[in-house]
Order: sequence, then C-alpha cells, then structure tokens
Amino acid sequence: MKSSQLRSRTAADIDSQVAKVLRGLGNPEPPLELRLVRELLKLDRSFYNTTDDSLLRETVSRLKVAGRQILKRPTILRDAISASSLKALYLPDQKRILLDESLPPLKHRWNEAHEVGHDIIPWHDGMMLGDTEHTLTMMCHAQMENEANYAAGRMLFLGDRFIAEANASTPSLKHVRQLSKAFGNTITSTLWRYVAQTHIATPLVAIVSGHPHLTKRHNGFDPLQPCRYCVESVAFKQGFGSLTEIDLFGVIVGYCGAQRGGMLGEDDVMLPGSDGNAHIFHFETFFNGHEALTLGVWLRRHATRLKVTS
Ligand SMILES: [Zn+2]
Repeated sequence: MKSSQLRSRTAADIDSQVAKVLRGLGNPEPPLELRLVRELLKLDRSFYNTTDDSLLRETVSRLKVAGRQILKRPTILRDAISASSLKALYLPDQKRILLDESLPPLKHRWNEAHEVGHDIIPWHDGMMLGDTEHTLTMMCHAQMENEANYAAGRMLFLGDRFIAEANASTPSLKHVRQLSKAFGNTITSTLWRYVAQTHIATPLVAIVSGHPHLTKRHNGFDPLQPCRYCVESVAFKQGFGSLTEIDLFGVIVGYCGAQRGGMLGEDDVMLPGSDGNAHIFHFETFFNGHEALTLGVWLRRHATRLKVTS
C-alpha cells in the first residue's frame, strides 16, 4: 500500500486550512482534542452500527439537500456504508460525521480527522453527496481520499510540530513510541509519518508485519508478501530502492525472538546499497500484540566494498 503524493500546491492549500483550525484553537499542545475541533467547526458526530442500522435510516430520512436520488433510494447510502471500504462518512448538509462503531476506538481518531478533512477542504464542498449515484461514488474517489488523509495527518500531528520534535532526537523506535503517546496517535500511523517526513537526510525504512518468528506466524502468512506495509524514506529509496520487502523481512527474522509482546529484538545489520557498497543499519522490532513494527535506521557506510559472488 503506497499513498501517492499530492501536488505541492494542493498540499499547501490544505496546510493553510489546517493551520487556520489550529490557530482557531490557539495552537494547542499535543495531543489534539478532536472534540474541540468539532466545536470550533460546529460539527456533529455520531456512531453507526452496521448490524443495527436505525441511526442510518434516521439519518437518511433527514437528508434534505443531498437530493432526490437518495430520498428515492435510501439504500444507496446504506449500501455504500456496508461496502467494506467505508469506515466513516461525512454528511455536509448536516455537518455530521458518522463513524463505524464496530471499529476499535483508536481507529476512530484517524477516521474522524479524515472526515473533518473533507469538511475543511473547500473544494470538497458539495462533492460528497450529490443527487446521482455517480456523484455518490465520487465520495470514494482516490484523489479526494488522499487529500482528506493528508489533512487528517497534518491535523493530528499538529502541522510541523511533529516533524520538529522528531528531528530533535536521533531516530529510534523508542522515540516513535514516545511521540505516538504524546500526540495520541497509533504507533503505526506515527511510525509511517516518522519515516516519510522526518530525518530526511538519513535513509529510514519502516515495516509493519505479523509476528516474524517462525513459531508465531499466522496461518495466512505469505512468504512472497511477508509485510503489511513497507514505508521507505526518500533517502532510502534513492540508496537502497532495489531491496525487496522479502529481503527486509529476512533481515528482521534474523534477530527477532518469539516474545509475545514488547521488543522482539534489535541488531546492526549490513545491507547492500545501490552504490555497490555495504552499509550498516540499526534495525529494531516491537510487537504490540497484533503487529510487528520495525524501524531500520542507516548508521554508516561499511569500510569494504561488497564482493560479487557467483
Ligand atoms: Zn473520505
């Protein structure tokens, strides 16, 4: 799963909308309280349950601006929500955010910020629910989703504040976990952002996988696709882009124990660079009970060039 880059002009527009919200809240300290964001923007929030859809039916019956099509065919909205991709929804005419109650609460935070993103991005106005089935599917349009996710990240990580704090210490998984706690966001989303946006001169890679130890793997483990996500920093892509996720997972397996949670291990490992040199990275892996989170940080070039083996 790779997220595509926004045009810099688009990103700057969204940055300024998010900055306006943060200013409106007096540039608060982390973690950002989404309740205050909702109050500032006069947004409402409710939860829906995909097994008990009474709230949905009520909401659908109150959709006035959204148009004839939906009033005639209320199942469109319900169908869209039951389609597995939809975990949250924003109804602009009601200024209401709907969140899927069945998801773990930690996911609500990101989903809610994403829907706030749709609210504050001016050109999303009116594009969310039109009066044709076609415009309803626009709701899931990849570009808009990307933009709303970008806005969510800028908001939950308080603009440039996260980048500044991350860059103030040497990169480590411990620091990622501290930042995750301080900003109130999941370790996974924090790790992702850490690798993609901070310490830009240092090659960094993050891997999210199942438990790497042979005795702890899930039945569905696929050796050809061992990682759930693999996020490479720009510097990593430039210097080590030819390494596959299978290579990287192999490195992780090399030092991880079978612990049920917490740190699984760490090691200095040698990786081949695209420059023909060997490089030393520090890798460390933490298991949160569901996912193994790995951070690999470039340390230095190794003194010897790689031998070509036949
Ligand atoms: Zn969306």
